[in-house]
Amino acid sequence: MEVSFSKEIEQLRLGAGATFHGEGILAITKALLQSGVSYVGGYQGAPVSHLLDVMVQAKALMSELGVHVEACSNEASAAAMLGASIHYPLRGAVTWKSIVGTNVASDALSNLSSPGVVGGALIVVGEDYGEGASVIQERTHAYALKSSMVLLDPRPDLAVMVRMVEEGFRISEASNMPAILELRIRACHVRGSFECKDNLAPHHSTRHRFAEPAAFDYAKLAHPPVTFRHEKLKSAERIPAARRYIEQQGLNEVFEGRIADVGVIVQGGLYNSLIRALQQFGLADAFGVSALSLLVLNVTCPLVPEAVAAFCVGKRGVLVLEEGQPEYIEQEIATLLRRRDVQTPLHGKDLLPSAGEYSIEVLAEGLIPFVQRYVAETPTSPVAQWLADNRARRAAVPAQFERPLPARPPGFCIGCPERPVFSALKLAQQQVGRVHISADIGCHAFGTFEPFSSGHSILGYGMSLASSAGVSPMMQRRTLSIMGDGGFWHNGLITGVQSALLNGDDSVLLIFKNGYTSATGTQEIISTPNDAAREAAADKLTSLTDTNQTIETTLKGLGVAWLRTVHTYRVAEMRSTLIEAFTSPFDGLKVVIAEGECQLERQRRIRPWLAGLLQRGERVERVRYGVDEDVCNGDHACIRLSGCPTLTVKDNPDPLKVDPVATVIDGCVGCGLCGENAHAATLCPSFYRAEIVTNPKWHERLLDAVRGRVIRALERA
Ligand code: SF4
Ligand code: SF4
Repeated sequence: MEVSFSKEIEQLRLGAGATFHGEGILAITKALLQSGVSYVGGYQGAPVSHLLDVMVQAKALMSELGVHVEACSNEASAAAMLGASIHYPLRGAVTWKSIVGTNVASDALSNLSSPGVVGGALIVVGEDYGEGASVIQERTHAYALKSSMVLLDPRPDLAVMVRMVEEGFRISEASNMPAILELRIRACHVRGSFECKDNLAPHHSTRHRFAEPAAFDYAKLAHPPVTFRHEKLKSAERIPAARRYIEQQGLNEVFEGRIADVGVIVQGGLYNSLIRALQQFGLADAFGVSALSLLVLNVTCPLVPEAVAAFCVGKRGVLVLEEGQPEYIEQEIATLLRRRDVQTPLHGKDLLPSAGEYSIEVLAEGLIPFVQRYVAETPTSPVAQWLADNRARRAAVPAQFERPLPARPPGFCIGCPERPVFSALKLAQQQVGRVHISADIGCHAFGTFEPFSSGHSILGYGMSLASSAGVSPMMQRRTLSIMGDGGFWHNGLITGVQSALLNGDDSVLLIFKNGYTSATGTQEIISTPNDAAREAAADKLTSLTDTNQTIETTLKGLGVAWLRTVHTYRVAEMRSTLIEAFTSPFDGLKVVIAEGECQLERQRRIRPWLAGLLQRGERVERVRYGVDEDVCNGDHACIRLSGCPTLTVKDNPDPLKVDPVATVIDGCVGCGLCGENAHAATLCPSFYRAEIVTNPKWHERLLDAVRGRVIRALERA
């Protein structure tokens, strides 16, 4: 990963008396260091990638403090890392994207939660739910409930978020329960400030190591018969201890309102949106002071029944705001009120939607009937009008256009080395027929969108080959599984390749070897080109992925007998290799490695080198492709085969033709796919390749001058 986080790392060094300004996720990172964390690990994924990326690059600071940082191979290995806190008084933090990462980590989390921890164990999850989310929509809350873990959901205010990190370690130690800190996308990116403390070097660290391992203690194993005792400890001791800590330290916040007998219980993470929604009713002022009484749950699991009941007693009505389904918190509150015979009317999912993000507008909509019933003196029609106006404004935008605006799904970067493989796959299927395609998580999942529409299912990160095991024997044609190198190392090697070899599966696996886990921010993996390769190739424009052969040697070592490596930009060769894989008499797993360095990383590598050449006045050549509009026949086959955003259409300059012609706009990086596709698919000969030379040599200037004269002479003739 060549993105530099040097500014962020400086922020991590701030000490007592200094004020931190910045994003929520970086504040969390700083809070870990202020808490005396001994080890940090995780697996990247939005919206928490930043935490690990910054830690990985802050090697010098981590070494000074004695903090160990591990870039884990997946979330399961990150969760297992917390096992260090079972025996030892070590504070540890790991991070990943949830729900998917928590699913992967769940086995280790169960085995961690059963014996419990003595050192504070904190899991920072990016709750990727709602608008802008990139994964299946489920809640982490279920894991906290089933494994008896503390779940913190801090109010999106940097000072509160930082405090909850520190309290997360303490409550974990007080209750022996691992703690999860849940951060929604907006909380990760909320900006603000907080007063810093000095970073705390942990007592035990890479600088101060234990002389001896812990004594053997069977009770620390997650293994019967002691697991039966663990189960009882959870309800008898750990959860009560956590509840005591929540109360003693005031982790949840009560804001008494002017209208004291109407209350809202809200997940901490939704607080800011709630205040904004209340402002629409005039029920909160510009400084965020609510007229209704609020119970803000910075800890949503476990709830403290006495405290919740005390908040509800004497209120005419209480609304629970809980995002997503099922409504775990609301059900628990209903039960605890019923058991205490508290008769306060309780609302929640009866007024608000079960699914989807609780944005300000969604909250405002749900608040209307609640306010009408319990705060009747407050007019709700202005809010209803505001919502209606918003809807009308949105509806009016497409109406401005003659035709509906085309959808703009995310897609491959311009010049992405993965796009050509999908062109080749499209061409290969024209010959062998359509095949069942098991897709996967990663940039290559963009191949499921137009113009490729390649992929029948996605079962999880690195799971494509495993997910084809049931389909493959039912198909006359071989199935294709697509996986990136990130997915291969995350899970695919074991769950897919090993299983396919064991069972003698006769299918095709296509591995994109672009050198990084690109979709999560181009983090490094074991098959990333190393620094020596980068140094050696600093002045070369070629792909670097072939310098690292770890995937190939691993597959051969495992027993893969049919293995081909093809550079992604050789479309015709890729097409014929795929056809060979689909039709070969070889009975067994066939692996095609599509090799081509992630364009983002390549650009980061070569841009400074090109800038240096230009600064020194040296020759630099850039390649661009274009379409000769007089030759283009307007059938757009090139666009259907490429999908590159810079290959688009424009009005036909010929007044006698109505079909728009293809055109290449600014932004083309000259990746060469246009030429490769034209050749492989025998498209019309309208593409041309232009070399733009800066600081040309004398003979190039001379040649250019001669060419110019000849062209002008021909034009005059
Ligand atoms: S990040 Fe890299 S691999 Fe992903 S779409 Fe962009 S160029 Fe392709
Ligand atoms: S050569 Fe073609 S595919 Fe490549 S960047 Fe340019 S327009 Fe896009």
